[in-house]
Amino acid sequence: MNRKGIIIVVSGFSGAGKGTIMKALTAKYDQYALSVSATTRSPREGEVNGREYFFITNEEFEKLIEEDGLIEHAKYVNHYYGTPRKYVEDKLSQGIDVILEIEIQGALQIKKQYPDAVLLFVMPPSATELEKRLRGRGTETEDVIRQRLNRAVEESVGIENYDYIVINDKLEDSVENVHQIISSAHLSPGRNLDFIETIRTQLKQL
Ligand code: ADP
Ligand code: 5GP
Repeated sequence: MNRKGIIIVVSGFSGAGKGTIMKALTAKYDQYALSVSATTRSPREGEVNGREYFFITNEEFEKLIEEDGLIEHAKYVNHYYGTPRKYVEDKLSQGIDVILEIEIQGALQIKKQYPDAVLLFVMPPSATELEKRLRGRGTETEDVIRQRLNRAVEESVGIENYDYIVINDKLEDSVENVHQIISSAHLSPGRNLDFIETIRTQLKQL
């Protein structure tokens, strides 16, 4: 059976645990490719250029947009974020699943261009837990934390556009849930038309 690569979009409120889940998922399962986005925000402590993000200037970002080098981009709390086109297209053509950890405006752009993409939204078990995680991470100023919590209220209106929610209570459960959702997506009849046709042909010959 020839397995085609799927785009999996993972969104969620800031601090819900997307990054943590993706790190654990890709450590446990090596078949997933995680797209590295470009951004104009500054690196956090421990973030490495080319690993978490490609950290670039506004001018460089605008040049990428002009060159059609991004498959989607959006502005999030004062900074640009975008998905480089080449990596995603290369992986898909090799039959590899690609995960994009992006916010909601980008997710909707992807769904338009790739109707086959599977959209997941990571939810915290409660709003107070979200605030606790965001503050506990200790990477943003109070001002930015407030802006991100306000943004979460706006984003909560768009969750209905997603295919699945993942409630990130226990990390290991979330990792398994994401893996199961992707595995199930590969088993949709629409993604297996060649296989179905083969069996039909064989049946006729019995
Ligand atoms: P996001 O990428 O969605 O902004 P992070 O992955 O950076 O969120 O997680 C935010 C904080 O919450 C981090 O300090 C992380 O260690 C913590 N965290 C993530 N998942 C869980 C979980 N299931 N239980 C408890 N803490 C978590
Ligand atoms: P952070 O600054 O916390 O790393 O990311 C802020 C938000 O930007 C998160 O919701 C994250 O998912 C989103 N994001 C990261 N990369 C991209 C991207 O390439 N495109 C879009 N649209 N959003 C992104």
